[in-house]
Amino acid sequence: MNIESAIYIVATPIGNLGDMTHRALEVLAQADLVAAEDTRQTRKLLDHYAITSRLLALHDHNELVVARELIARVQQGQRVALVSDAGTPLISDPGYNLVALAHDEGVRVVPIPGPSAVISALCVSGLACDRFVFEGFLPAKAQARLKLLQASMQEPRSLVFYESPHRILDTLMAMNTLFPQRRLTLARELTKRFETIRRATVAELLNWVNEDGDQLRGEFVLVLEGAVPEVVELASLRPALERVMQELPTKKAVSLVADLYGANKKALYDLALQIKAN
Ligand code: SAM
Repeated sequence: MNIESAIYIVATPIGNLGDMTHRALEVLAQADLVAAEDTRQTRKLLDHYAITSRLLALHDHNELVVARELIARVQQGQRVALVSDAGTPLISDPGYNLVALAHDEGVRVVPIPGPSAVISALCVSGLACDRFVFEGFLPAKAQARLKLLQASMQEPRSLVFYESPHRILDTLMAMNTLFPQRRLTLARELTKRFETIRRATVAELLNWVNEDGDQLRGEFVLVLEGAVPEVVELASLRPALERVMQELPTKKAVSLVADLYGANKKALYDLALQIKAN
């Protein structure tokens, strides 16, 4: 298959070379230029498949300038591929400016799907996958990290974090101070020799890594269970509602109590009518 002039966003393996797709190989072999986060790393991958395409560095520090050059090349009829060191470009990796500019300039962008650590971890996490929030890397500074985790505590969807071996312990300790009993899946070295996937409570996982230091090596994805909304027993709100109704009109009283306790307004209004009728 001959590929057309466009920008191809090409996913590459996150550890296991066997995960390189047939289409990714075709595109990389035919590209006039392959933009790569680290050209030495990508050269190794291309050498493995005897692909000799030209490489150009595109990273956080030169992306704006290089993006213009790549767009101009596609406008002249060339085929350009973008890869990152591992996984899907743009997912906690460079490439956003290039793709945004391509849209601005009416240049075609084609996805060549393949591995990404976020999806790989999520689908084996044993936690809800129907809806999730991808947080990428947590902030490096302890205070900012704690603040972000605190802000995420009420999030009902599963949360996915990327983490490095230098910070994994600090992150687990921070989670342990906020929600020790929440379930968490630690996905380490996915698709590689020491792949480990373990679901437990935050406190149990922290104990486990403390006992086995080897579990702190490599690359990590953490999938955190979303907050389970507390079910408020309606009857338990009766005294509060009665008291507030002595001070406020029924509608306002219902609204205030519903907001304060996270209760269903319609059900609370029915309760208010019962109180009034007695
Ligand atoms: N673009 C990549 C993707 O699509 O997953 C992510 C790049 S980001 C710079 C690197 C981070 O992804 C690592 O620090 C780790 O959190 C996660 N990661 C990448 N490969 C992994 C693997 N094999 N196992 C677990 N986590 C991995």
